[in-house]
Amino acid sequence: MEKIFIFDTTLRDGEQVPGACLNPREKVEIALQLARLQVDAIEAGFPISSPGDFEAVKAIASKVKGPTIVALARAVRKDIETAWEAIKKAEKPRIHVFLGSSDIHIQKKFGLDREKALERGLEALKFAKSLCPDVEYSTEDASRTAPDYLVKVLEQVIAAGATVVNIPDTVGYAVPQQFGKLISYIKEKVPNIENTVVSVHCHNDLGLATANSLIAIENGARQVECTMNGLGERAGNASLEEIVMAIKTRKDYFNFYTSVNTREIIKTSRLVSRLMGMPVQANKAIVGANAFAHSSGIHQDGILKDRATYEIIRPEDVGITEHAIVLTARSGRHALKHKISEMGYDLKGEEFETVYERFLSVADKKKRVYDEDVNIIVQDVIFAHLADTRLYSFESYKVKTGNGKVPEARVRLQKNEVILEATAEGDGPIDAIFKAIDKIVGAYHKLEDFQVKAVTETKEAMGVATVRIARDSFRTLGRGSSTDILEASARAYVEAVNRIYYLQSRQSGC
Ligand SMILES: [Zn+2]
Repeated sequence: MEKIFIFDTTLRDGEQVPGACLNPREKVEIALQLARLQVDAIEAGFPISSPGDFEAVKAIASKVKGPTIVALARAVRKDIETAWEAIKKAEKPRIHVFLGSSDIHIQKKFGLDREKALERGLEALKFAKSLCPDVEYSTEDASRTAPDYLVKVLEQVIAAGATVVNIPDTVGYAVPQQFGKLISYIKEKVPNIENTVVSVHCHNDLGLATANSLIAIENGARQVECTMNGLGERAGNASLEEIVMAIKTRKDYFNFYTSVNTREIIKTSRLVSRLMGMPVQANKAIVGANAFAHSSGIHQDGILKDRATYEIIRPEDVGITEHAIVLTARSGRHALKHKISEMGYDLKGEEFETVYERFLSVADKKKRVYDEDVNIIVQDVIFAHLADTRLYSFESYKVKTGNGKVPEARVRLQKNEVILEATAEGDGPIDAIFKAIDKIVGAYHKLEDFQVKAVTETKEAMGVATVRIARDSFRTLGRGSSTDILEASARAYVEAVNRIYYLQSRQSGC
């Protein structure tokens, strides 16, 4: 069996989703999880695009071991230098240079002709190669590029040392048979193609990203660029979990394998969804809440007799386990610490003590504390400790409401050790809480999205609230959790407000 290399671009293409603005610590958190998932390469970002992205890529390059760490660059000297500056400390760095190859990109974007564009691409590639031995070259908009020109470009960039050549369906225009033919045409016509790895990068505008990627590997591609939960520009990218599980489940047909540890899929999917504030649709293949739920009576009956009657993937193979009861209020510090380190976190001193206190108050309310609960508490504390983003912290709230009464909320926040309070009325208790927070901070925020989700399926479930707000040109999201959904919502709103102040203070946007 031949190996298919999995190149994850959740932190680059996936992060281009409007509103999915991750700070460097969140990016490192996701990259560490991608390393546990054992992807072959992590595209960590586009360092020239903002100082924040540069810092995040740099932090990932120094902290994340295992996968190749990739930085994106246009075919421009400054981009390439900045990309190299960000990743040079990585165990296995790779610079990813891209340049449009279709006539529409060459003429409309650059005002060049084909020859001049090829010269620019070669010059960029050679410069990247002088800094980093591993250089990937992307012929942007390849699926709309004249095939003979594409062959010419590929031959020359491979001769100049491209270790990977990427054939992107940038605009999601390809259909499977045609895209497969394009890959086999390239394999046949580019004389030195065996000196490189052929990669594909498919977008999902027509819902064909996974199909296009799979037919590409059948025709000779050996690297697939994809994202967790299919996140990405517009309709998104090929989804990692679909590609990996299709190859694994149908190895009888494909005869390929990947190095991905599929048991980490669900955990990765949830982490990405939570940090980016992008819920996964319930019927999403592999990672949707209903992906393994059998509701028809006939199906349930079959499953009880033999799971294989209606199940092609064992839930445990993607990391779905029954809710494990982990801890109770009497478990103590040691057990909690052990559990947290088992989950892959390293918390010390004050951070751990804060987690322990929140754990105790949750354990008081719900007796049994599940893995997912602990995970949420830990993440809340980690982000709360991002001192520079935390101008305000939540203290408490009170709500007066009832039939025929206008709900009224009184909220207390803390800023620089000072308690601030305000009261406001609203259309509902949550609206009243948000308005009271706006009053305290003295600014109006436009609420763009608000969701509450129960994480564990008991009556005393931990609720996680996600809030997306906008002020001026800034747009952020915040999350908060509690067994009380009003408190979770207030915490989420305060976090989002803090992030707006943080962004404003850096004036870099995102
Ligand atoms: Zn893309």
